[in-house]
Amino acid sequence: MKKVGITGGIGSGKSTVCEIFHLLGVPVFHADDEARYLQNNDLTIRDQFIGLFGAGIYLSDGSLDRKKLASLVFNDPVLLDKVNKIIHPSVRQCFINWTHEYINEPYVLYEAAILLESGYTKDFDLIILILADENVRIERVIKRDNISEEMVRDRIKNQLTDSQKIELVGYIIENNNSQLLIPQIIDLDRAIRNDNILHHSNH
Ligand code: ATP
Repeated sequence: MKKVGITGGIGSGKSTVCEIFHLLGVPVFHADDEARYLQNNDLTIRDQFIGLFGAGIYLSDGSLDRKKLASLVFNDPVLLDKVNKIIHPSVRQCFINWTHEYINEPYVLYEAAILLESGYTKDFDLIILILADENVRIERVIKRDNISEEMVRDRIKNQLTDSQKIELVGYIIENNNSQLLIPQIIDLDRAIRNDNILHHSNH
């Protein structure tokens, strides 16, 4: 079973692309959802968050105050790094455990927004990057989340640029409005199953 990572900037279409892979029968692990689950439910992680930020980082219903966390770490890379170091090892362990269920599948997907930023790349046979122009991404996210352009741009600021990401990945899916998405995914699925990936640097 191959492990394939899939990433892309905010609004690039990770969820959309993964949904199509899922329809093709590919098991998909959503790292960001898992991280969210662990932040709310894993007692060791809760203790570490409370140690770092105080009990007020959890809301009265027991869930993590994500807005407060975001505002605290936004302009503090050291704190952000500490938060990531609490979360990432547990998410990776969950992923490894999860893969045991799919040992007979040709491949599984690991979807994460900050896969490349987190440096968690060596465990993957292939990393796919979804690319869409920044203006397309901003437009899609404003429409999807009903938030301001400034908020989307703030989130983009904390991610690597696309040109930095391109250097680090093996394959690119283009998801602007000019390219059809489904044929690209069908071709890629077939190539992964047949071990016949044409890496983007060889195009
Ligand atoms: P995030 O990083 O915020 O989780 P994402 O990378 O998972 O975003 P999606 O949620 O898949 O991105 O896509 C963002 C929005 O753009 C969604 O509303 C989705 O329906 C829409 N979208 C994605 N791809 C396309 C496309 N090819 N054509 C039209 N709309 C699209």
